[in-house]
Amino acid sequence: MRFSLPKNSNLSIKPIKSFTDNYIWMIKKNKDVVVVDPGDAIPVLNFLKEKNLNLKSILITHKHADHIGGIEDLLSHYPNIKIYGPKNNFNFIYTIVNNDELLKINELNIEFRVIATPGHTLDHVVFADQDHLFCGDTLFGCGCGKLFEGSYSQMHSSLKTLSKLPTSIKVYCAHEYTKKNIEFALTQDKDNQYLIDRKRNLIGKDITLPSTLGEELKTNPFLRSKDVTQFKELRQRKDNF
Ligand SMILES: [Zn+2]
Repeated sequence: MRFSLPKNSNLSIKPIKSFTDNYIWMIKKNKDVVVVDPGDAIPVLNFLKEKNLNLKSILITHKHADHIGGIEDLLSHYPNIKIYGPKNNFNFIYTIVNNDELLKINELNIEFRVIATPGHTLDHVVFADQDHLFCGDTLFGCGCGKLFEGSYSQMHSSLKTLSKLPTSIKVYCAHEYTKKNIEFALTQDKDNQYLIDRKRNLIGKDITLPSTLGEELKTNPFLRSKDVTQFKELRQRKDNF
């Protein structure tokens, strides 16, 4: 399936670090912001205060605590914000989003295409416009999420769907795993010059994201696996790496 993606202008995207390796991505337009997957409220509240910004909305990619754990606390500070996420039994009020839906966030006058990417969890969705992909724990820099709920076939299919998005799209993953993932990828694809270059270019860099889909297509072994069998073998090797 191919998705038509909306265009948003004048967005600026900033990472808010949380826990040991999570990113809460902040989508900012003027003084208004949307945050993606706030697993912890404190770093978000500090960031908003420091930069004098207004939280308007929250996007959720999936149900894991390190992606939603901060929501109740954020709601206590910002009771009127709108929350969007996949169908699940969350204990806060939110709007369910579905595959291929064009999500309009009126508060910022922006739109994202919702794409279901089951695999890491069954509820997992990602949010994309022409330039940005907020992919949660489905796609990582040079890697992909572990399979907690979905089948290998589901995850492979979800990654294939993402691989058809524009190559220039910037990839905003929810964890900083890129360097470790490159080490694994090099054990599978040691002569890949793009991979060797990617490792070199990241030396000394603390934040390796966003990457681009084009870069991932050249270096990410999970996106490059030809079929489900190959994907499954690769995922199992990575789980034991
Ligand atoms: Zn997760």
